[in-house]
Amino acid sequence: MTTVLISGASVAGPALAYWLQRYGYSPTVVERAPAPRPGGYAVDFRGASMTVLERMGILDAVRAKATNMGDITYVNEQGKRVASTPPSALSGELEILRGDLVEILYSRTADTTEYLFGDSIASLTDDGSGVDVVFESGLTRRFDLVIGADGQHSNVRRLAFGPESSYAHDLGYYVSVSTVANHLGLDHTGQILNVPGKTVGTYSARHNAEAKALFYFTAKDKLDYDRRDPESQKAIIDEQFAGIGWEVPTLLAGMRQAPDFYFDSITQIKLDSYSRGRVALVGDAGYCASSLSGMGTSLAIVGAYVLAGELHAAGGDHVRAFAEYDVRMKDFVAACQKLALEGAMWFIPGSKGFMKLRNLTLRMMPYLPWRKVIEQAPLKAGNAIELRTYEDQLPRPAVPRP
Ligand SMILES: Cc1cc2nc3c(=O)[nH]c(=O)nc-3n(C[C@H](O)[C@H](O)[C@H](O)COP(=O)(O)OP(=O)(O)OC[C@H]3O[C@@H](n4cnc5c(N)ncnc54)[C@H](O)[C@@H]3O)c2cc1C
Repeated sequence: MTTVLISGASVAGPALAYWLQRYGYSPTVVERAPAPRPGGYAVDFRGASMTVLERMGILDAVRAKATNMGDITYVNEQGKRVASTPPSALSGELEILRGDLVEILYSRTADTTEYLFGDSIASLTDDGSGVDVVFESGLTRRFDLVIGADGQHSNVRRLAFGPESSYAHDLGYYVSVSTVANHLGLDHTGQILNVPGKTVGTYSARHNAEAKALFYFTAKDKLDYDRRDPESQKAIIDEQFAGIGWEVPTLLAGMRQAPDFYFDSITQIKLDSYSRGRVALVGDAGYCASSLSGMGTSLAIVGAYVLAGELHAAGGDHVRAFAEYDVRMKDFVAACQKLALEGAMWFIPGSKGFMKLRNLTLRMMPYLPWRKVIEQAPLKAGNAIELRTYEDQLPRPAVPRP
């Protein structure tokens, strides 16, 4: 049985494990966190990823946990509505909290996949016929293939492809999301305020029991901060959003207390090929499109489907499979990454003039003849891949691990 080590147990990792075990492979997933990571922001699905969810048999489970968000309202500093967007613009065809999605994926794979929590890969040695892996815990194992599904700052990519700086393209923005109280009593909706170069908002989550506070801002130069120090990152948000009206002081206070504070640069990962020898990348590790694209989760789910399917179709010949994976994903990745650049202009307008134009366009949207072109751009990117059907080549049903 071909053994595959996957680094990362968020979206791409467990989705890949799901397909690999269905095709008769033996997947092991190593995750740095001590357990599947709960919480997090809302992520959404569009286009081809909906088909993959259906083929995985989890579409109904994801629907059952859908956020069911309504319109999102843009407000001014006095809290007055200035425009709104329909759910399809920011919530896709189907939206779920990232933690809920991870739980579904983990529960569907826990019986058939070996999970190693609280560990990480320290070194990889690919000798052409297999990969020797040393874990941080001291464990050593040999695998036929190793796949990095460990996100934007992928450890596997660093070990097998070289430093992140060679592949990371900063878009010039930073983002923070955390769980806060739903102090506005939002009912399956959200409110957003823009000031030039900054976006701050809150949306309800978990059937209005809580809310998320989100902060986006532009930074001309790369910020120098410690990625492992949330307190210094919170101070950056505090400084960036100080003195802004509306509900911002309350959201900042909530962010400071939040149990699940998230902060990062908005960066895309661009590679010519998603593999080196017996090591390959999937999801954000290989082709992060950024939160501004709204396509990262779709890319992760579709990428896992294509990578496992191509391995299966090539009869386990990883050289052929990885080459085909590159070809099949390339245009899809490009379309999703392009969406982020367009999304940034609209979501974080750089000037008062553009803010006014954006708000006017949103208000006029129902009457614009080219409305459908604008509304369907994200769906078009979500469908920018033709999915092969690999199911009819299935060798055997999934066998639970002893
Ligand atoms: C604020 C924000 C909002 C977003 N909104 C959307 C949205 O609306 N729609 C959408 O489609 N996408 C959205 N995304 C993007 C989406 O979250 C990602 O594209 C998606 O989660 C990618 O999944 P992944 O499994 O590739 O990587 P990740 O979800 O980043 O998971 C990587 C996993 O690897 C683990 N890991 C990291 N390092 C190691 C290591 N050394 N060893 C072992 N494990 C490791 C991590 O703990 C994590 O579990 C958003 C992202 C952010 C940050």
